[in-house]
Amino acid sequence: MAIDLETAFDLVVGGRETPGTRGERRPVVDPANNRPFARAAVGSRDDARAALEVADRAFRESPWAQDDGARRAKALYRLAGLLESQVDAFARLETQNMGKPLRESRGDIGYVVRTVEYFAGLADKVEGETIPVPGPRLDYTLREPLGVTVHIAPWNYPLLLAIRSVAPALAAGNAVVLKPASLTPLTAVAFARLAKDAGIPDGILNVVPGSGAEVGEALVDDDRCRSVTFTGSGDVGARIAGLAARRHLPLTLELGGKGPVVVFPDADLERAAKGIGYGIFQNAGQMCWAASRLLVHESVRSELLERVRSIAEGLRLGPGTAEGVEMGPLVSPDQLAHVLEYVEDARASGGRVLTGGSRASEPALAEGNFLRPTVLAEVPPSSRAVREEIFGPVLTTAGFSDAEEALRLANDTPYGLLGTIWTRDLGTAHSFARRLECGMVVVNEAPITYPQAPFAGVKGSGVGSEQGSRAVETYTRRKNVLVNLGAAKKRA
Ligand code: NAP
Ligand code: MG
Repeated sequence: MAIDLETAFDLVVGGRETPGTRGERRPVVDPANNRPFARAAVGSRDDARAALEVADRAFRESPWAQDDGARRAKALYRLAGLLESQVDAFARLETQNMGKPLRESRGDIGYVVRTVEYFAGLADKVEGETIPVPGPRLDYTLREPLGVTVHIAPWNYPLLLAIRSVAPALAAGNAVVLKPASLTPLTAVAFARLAKDAGIPDGILNVVPGSGAEVGEALVDDDRCRSVTFTGSGDVGARIAGLAARRHLPLTLELGGKGPVVVFPDADLERAAKGIGYGIFQNAGQMCWAASRLLVHESVRSELLERVRSIAEGLRLGPGTAEGVEMGPLVSPDQLAHVLEYVEDARASGGRVLTGGSRASEPALAEGNFLRPTVLAEVPPSSRAVREEIFGPVLTTAGFSDAEEALRLANDTPYGLLGTIWTRDLGTAHSFARRLECGMVVVNEAPITYPQAPFAGVKGSGVGSEQGSRAVETYTRRKNVLVNLGAAKKRA
């Protein structure tokens, strides 16, 4: 099924599509050629407030929150089914808007289907408990939805990262207002249309595209907002946390990363090289969990770097919509310029570019935001390219002589999202997994996750956790009820 690109992608509020109070629709651009291909409405502060009002009313008045969880489960399963029947159309839309290869977008949309199914399965398992207390008393807890939950999403996995938190919030019975990134609003709008078809009551899933500074802040800084989930950069996360703190709002932050990949001398170097290439070049490296800092034992360093360089040089660049393409453009000209700055900085501080480091030179790619897959070496540990998240297809590399040095280098970062270990030794794998300061560790794998497994960062990578069965609890509150049952009546 195709999605009509001629129709504008408007705000979805209370089950209705509206251009918003400004009536402004801006062109949405394909990063493979920087030409417009669709139009999207730009919401305002007033639209944000209207969406909160509608969501608040739907939460109180529609059957969604109070209903049997099994009915919510059914609606969410229907939604997953509708999305599954349109994976291809959604994947095309995502690719054209964001740039990643179609194969990756299909994977992303499939992941969204699975996420909605997973949380549908939990919608009728939101349970309280009974707690023993002294005397003739009954103490029990209720798990109640929070009300209106606000979700602010980034552009790198536009639908996936939005629905990753929206799905458990809906399963728990909340009403949602979602603000997608300004660059990539399309699939979120298309998803909200499906939610209506799936029978989710009007006003329970609202989508308000618009600027973060205006719409995002208006959504958080409002009494009707009952929780905030933000995925994006650390600076914006800190700003949102400040606004949320003023209103005592529960908050989940999924921020950036600078993931270490530690390769021990006993690793399967062929598999490791493939995993390393995947971990930094998929999605053109625009991933919070990018495996962006390679730390390799000196004894295998030159062999591994040679393998990784050859993978980087063999990747087929092109528009994500073209068959066989392995790496697409960066999301915007600004992002391309931003990533190139890091490469220049690395060069200026004495680093070597093993491969890449410049825009793609093929004439067919000249109009897009294409950067060649880049591997850097000998970049000083204190340089920006090693310290900061680049968010592009740029791998820094360094050697180590023993495990303690590897651990020190791996943990020497303000971030702590995903760490990777390559070794055949079980003892090394488990002891390193414990000592890495990360929310997630993969062993002998490229970055991978599942909706049923927690996704979380420590240090500068975030607060709280997403995915997994406990994600539903994030969107509920626990109320305690204590009943004095009175003295048991004596038998006559
Ligand atoms: P960003 O600039 O922080 O934006 C993220 C979202 O926040 C966008 O919807 C943005 O709207 C909105 N926003 C911006 N300023 C705001 C404000 N003052 N108040 C409320 N909302 C505001 O991040 P990005 O550039 O889109 O994405 C890249 C970053 O996201 C990277 O740092 C990356 O590591 C992080 N990320 C983390 C994860 C994770 O799971 N840990 C996953 C993916 C990405 P506009 O689009 O209008 O600016
Ligand atoms: Mg931004």
